[in-house]
Amino acid sequence: MAGEPQADCLFCKIATGDIPATVVRETETTIAFRDVSPKAPTHVLVIPKAHYPDAASLAAAEPGIAADVLREAGQVAADEKVDGQGYRIVFNTGAGAGQTVFHAHAHVLGGRGLEWPPG
Ligand code: AMP
Repeated sequence: MAGEPQADCLFCKIATGDIPATVVRETETTIAFRDVSPKAPTHVLVIPKAHYPDAASLAAAEPGIAADVLREAGQVAADEKVDGQGYRIVFNTGAGAGQTVFHAHAHVLGGRGLEWPPG
């Protein structure tokens, strides 16, 4: 069923605590943790606890939770004090765009200059 945990999903296992992560924020619907391979001084992932394969499918099925993810991404940026200088929220969608974990997640990147457009 849509949103149900998937046995083979890494981020579902982080959401349930079965795989450890450095958690920085948690709400009823979301969890935020540091990326294991950071691409910037601040690199935090915000995920919905419910399983959806990407941001668009999450927003279509659960717009309130999609909004929670975005709100939490902003809170992470504020907590990390990168909101003043500017930061980036990225949802890689599809393997061709670099998505490797097919559980919706926002990358919150900051703490260095961020080029535009990204590669
Ligand atoms: P994406 O490539 O957009 O699907 O992003 C997946 C991200 O998850 C990558 O930036 C990985 O470095 C990160 N990642 C993979 N495994 C873990 C883990 N166990 N804990 C934290 N971050 C992870």
